Amino acid sequence: MSSPVAARAGLARASALLVLLASGLAGCHRATPSNPFAGVANPDVVLVTLDTLRADATGFAGNRRISTPNLDRLAAEGIVFTQAHAHNVVTLPSHTNILTGLYPYEHGVRDNQGFRLSDSIPTLATLLKAKGYATGAFIGGFPLDSRFGLSRGFDVYDERYLEGLGSDQFVFPERRAADVVAAARTWFDGAAGHPRFLWVHLYDCHGPYKPPPPFDAEYAEEPYLGEVAGVDRALEPLVAELEAKTTPTLLVLTSDHGEALGDHGEKTHGLFAYEATLHVPLILWSPKHIEHGVNPSMARHIDILPTVLEAVGIAVPKNLAGLSLLSSQDRAGVACYFEALSTSLERGWAPLFGVMKDGYKFLDLPVPELYELRSDPEEKRNLVSERNDVARSLSRLLPARKSVGARSSVSDETAAKLRSLGYLGGRAGQKERYGIEDDPKRLVGLDGKLHDLVDFYSAGKLAEAEQLARQAIVERPSMPTGYEYLSFLQVQRGDTAAAIRTLEEARRRNLLDERLESRLALLYSERGASKEALALLEPSSRSENPDVLNALGIVHARARRLPEAMAAFESALRIHPNDPVTYQNIGITFLNFDRPGPAREALEKALAANDRLPRAWNARGVLLEQQGKSEEATASWRRAVQLEPGLLDAWMNIAAVAAKRGDAAQERDALSQFIARAPAGQYASDLAQARRRLADLPR
Ligand SMILES: [Zn+2]
Repeated sequence: MSSPVAARAGLARASALLVLLASGLAGCHRATPSNPFAGVANPDVVLVTLDTLRADATGFAGNRRISTPNLDRLAAEGIVFTQAHAHNVVTLPSHTNILTGLYPYEHGVRDNQGFRLSDSIPTLATLLKAKGYATGAFIGGFPLDSRFGLSRGFDVYDERYLEGLGSDQFVFPERRAADVVAAARTWFDGAAGHPRFLWVHLYDCHGPYKPPPPFDAEYAEEPYLGEVAGVDRALEPLVAELEAKTTPTLLVLTSDHGEALGDHGEKTHGLFAYEATLHVPLILWSPKHIEHGVNPSMARHIDILPTVLEAVGIAVPKNLAGLSLLSSQDRAGVACYFEALSTSLERGWAPLFGVMKDGYKFLDLPVPELYELRSDPEEKRNLVSERNDVARSLSRLLPARKSVGARSSVSDETAAKLRSLGYLGGRAGQKERYGIEDDPKRLVGLDGKLHDLVDFYSAGKLAEAEQLARQAIVERPSMPTGYEYLSFLQVQRGDTAAAIRTLEEARRRNLLDERLESRLALLYSERGASKEALALLEPSSRSENPDVLNALGIVHARARRLPEAMAAFESALRIHPNDPVTYQNIGITFLNFDRPGPAREALEKALAANDRLPRAWNARGVLLEQQGKSEEATASWRRAVQLEPGLLDAWMNIAAVAAKRGDAAQERDALSQFIARAPAGQYASDLAQARRRLADLPR
């Protein structure tokens, strides 16, 4: 092959990701009279958050189509809150509510992207650490990456999920539940002797649904339930270990939000805030300290932090609206605020704010909605005209609305800080007034098309996906998402020039935020248009977004400006210290500047922080090959393609070294893998060459 090995170490793109994106329990309210942990010194605390778990998708909730023996055992021994609710319907804000005990308008994190928790806000981890707890978090998916600020206070924040081809993927990287639980148990055992706070986050139930065996076969008709069953199984060793412990433990188990599965026309979550996604499971479990009970009163995610603080004997900060679930007697009249802002922030649709109280649920939208949940649990009958009195009294409970992130309860200082981080005012949204045409109910069909687009893409049907992206632009030309997805698909089929034209059109319409600008700049620089790339990104050198700074570093590196590239990467590391992807980019840059020493050092740091970085393994292989260690180099590239079979550079490298060694079988295999995966447009000449070479190889 003509391509020199060293040239095949592509930089990872900045990793801003594209994502589109009633209980059957019997029993009566058993009030818990007082704190059952009174007199217990420093019980261990275990928080388990099962991402995307619907409240009605477990055996203990009465679902007969699934078997969840481990969750059922916890429910049978602990207190089950049958009316527990989240305040957000996406991962990062919801977990921020759980860990801070604050509503989203108080802590300021409103969506999965574009927000980072302020360093000044205490969390369960910082509070328990200050009390002498060992603190460990084991994370299953990218939305909770340490860059978003939830890692503060944790001694260990284990986020070793796959960081594959970087940015432009439709699906967040995840780590399987069994791996997360195994890592968590190793840490938990190692920290014995101290009081411990363990947080386990299992991401598996999030789409796409690909349950592990045997649940893939057992739940072939309902793969979402298969994922839930798989997560239940993965928890088994942790539950067994906690049951066998002789020292006291408080376990809190909940989900961050549910999954719509077609309810009200919604496919996954994030668009609406109906019960399918807002209602969550919640169990408190502690053998010997908590007796079984079923509590049907309103329980909220913001109640979890006061609950844990009460159990461990820390005074609950006065500014918190939440109430401990262990000892608060009377929960009648408790109100629960909620919101769904992703499609407003990312697509410019109407924001959804709402509140629940006394069995009523009010949704403040251009077409407002009111439901009485006891008689209408499926939220089919909108009572907003009939019971306008109730709707009005509930709407008065909503916090005053200025703009997202600068609401009444955010201190001026916090609001100013958030603004200074550049996290507000995405160009997508924030109209003065939203009309009926902006109501998510009117746009659910378009949302469905965007989901179908992702499904087509996942199935390799790029033309069909592209057609839907074009339709989305026609239907909603003011929405950046259509341009974003179209340009992504154009890159996938190898037409970078078309992708650039698409993003330039969005830019003319003033639809590009910092993240999309950096994507356009990376495309310019890929095409060798360094001047255009730098002109677009240079104002971002003071950005507080590590993805944007990484993009700037890559653009400088491609323009052969090493000091400027390193300055940008170092700025990214100041915001997100020890970030493995930034170290990976530094390593690859040094490699491309023929500086093997610093390249090796940076790649080692990257792989020490996260060993699931295919691009770092690929670059490491190149370094080894340059040292004449072909065998070790090939092993490194094999590791890369095992993690990410789409990493074409690694296949080419394996083929090149196999050719050099005269290993025809290995060369043939690697070339075939390359040919099967390389997009025709972008790789036309490499493909032709690979096919010729394959034909020449001895059989
Ligand atoms: Zn989630």
